[in-house]
Amino acid sequence: MIMRQASKIQYILRDVDIQKASAIFGVDEATLKRLNDQFLLNVDYIRDELIRRDWRKLIKGLKFLVEQNQGYTYPEVAKAICQHYNISRKALTNIIGSHHNQKMVFCRRCGIRISKVAYERTGGLCKNCLVESLGI
Ligand SMILES: [Zn+2]
Repeated sequence: MIMRQASKIQYILRDVDIQKASAIFGVDEATLKRLNDQFLLNVDYIRDELIRRDWRKLIKGLKFLVEQNQGYTYPEVAKAICQHYNISRKALTNIIGSHHNQKMVFCRRCGIRISKVAYERTGGLCKNCLVESLGI
């Protein structure tokens, strides 16, 4: 029972997260704070987006710094982000790795989700709609 409760603990946006989210999503801080306090936000989604943006920003900086010959490393960036958001390395990998999957595409005809590869191959149709479009 205790385990179950522990697994349900939700991340709560901190003030620093709210400031970032406000800039990213174009929602004022006061509103975000109020919704956050009322547990009305999809906090996991917001946090993951903040993490992805921080990651991209820092990795960009990484290239710059390497050119300046004072680089920090990928593992150091990862560690810094894990510490900042209090997440595991595995969680970070999942969040960063899932970035490409976030670009969802949908069948133009029936609206189900399809892969980007399929979308490009069929001109935007899922398998069923593609078969139907053959019009035999
Ligand atoms: Zn379809």
